[in-house]
Amino acid sequence: MRFPVPALAVLAALTGAAPAAAQEPLHLAVYVADSSSFHVTSTLIYGATEAVLVDAQFQNSEAEKLADRIAATGRRLKAILISHPDDDHYIGLAVLRQRFPGTPIYMSAAALSEFKRTSARYLAGSRSFQPSETPDSLPTPELLPSRQLLIDGAAVKVVTDVQGDAFVPSNSFVWVPSLRAVVAGDIVFNGVHVWLANSNQRTRTAWRHSLDRIAALHPRVVVAGHKRDAGLEDSPDAVEATRAYLTAFERAVHDASNADEVVAAMRQEFPDLSLAGILTRAARVAVPN
Ligand SMILES: [Zn+2]
Repeated sequence: MRFPVPALAVLAALTGAAPAAAQEPLHLAVYVADSSSFHVTSTLIYGATEAVLVDAQFQNSEAEKLADRIAATGRRLKAILISHPDDDHYIGLAVLRQRFPGTPIYMSAAALSEFKRTSARYLAGSRSFQPSETPDSLPTPELLPSRQLLIDGAAVKVVTDVQGDAFVPSNSFVWVPSLRAVVAGDIVFNGVHVWLANSNQRTRTAWRHSLDRIAALHPRVVVAGHKRDAGLEDSPDAVEATRAYLTAFERAVHDASNADEVVAAMRQEFPDLSLAGILTRAARVAVPN
C-alpha cells in the first residue's frame, strides 16, 4: 500500500491557505493483512485533506499498523465504514477508536442490526482464538447517516445491504465515481478462496446479482474484501473470478457425495488460490458428512 507524503496538508498548514480541495483527485490506498488475518483488506479513500476508511482489520496489531499508515498521510480521518458485520472486518475497531477518537464509525441498517445481534459472540470467539490480538470491548458503530459521503467535496456512494458472504443481505460496497473504483468488501475476493461457510444456494444466487450490480458500473478498479497480497492488482477481473468460483462451487456441491469431494473438485479448478482452509469450512457446511 502506498501512502503519500502529506505535502499539500503541510503546505496548507504553513501558509494558512485553504486547502485546494476539489482540485486534487481522490486516491485509494489498500492495506492487506497477512494470512493469520485471512488477508483481509482495509481501504483508505483520501483527498487533499480528508480521508474515509473502509474496514478495520481483524487483529489489534494489524489495526495498529493500519493506523500508523493513516496517520502518516496527514489527512483527517473523517469516517470509518464497516462494509459488513463479520468480525474479520471490525475487531480492529477498538484500536482505531483509540488512535482516532471522535471519528464516527458507520454501518448500514442491516449490518448494524446484525452487529448488535452477533458481535459479543464473535468477540468472545476471537478472544479464545487470538487473545493477544483481541480488545476487551468494541465501540458500537452508528447508523450510516447518508448513502453519500463527501471527501474534500468529492462524493462517494455507499450501496447498502446487498447480498454478499453473510446469510443476511448486509454487505455494502463503495463506489468512487471519479476513480471508477469499487471498494467491494466481501462481495468480491481476489486470489483467495471465497468465504462460503455462511452461504446457501439462495444467498449465492442473490450474491451473483450483487456482482451484476458492480459489473454494471463498469469499474476500472475493484478492491476485494480479501486479497492474496498487496502486490496483486485491484482489477475488475476479480468480479468475474468471484462469479466463476460461486458457479463452480454450486456444481461441485451438486456433484459431490461428501465435503472432501467438494474440496478436491474446487482445488483442481482453482489450484492457485490462497486460504484453502476457507474452502474446507465451506465444503463441510454445504455437504455435511
Ligand atoms: Zn471477510
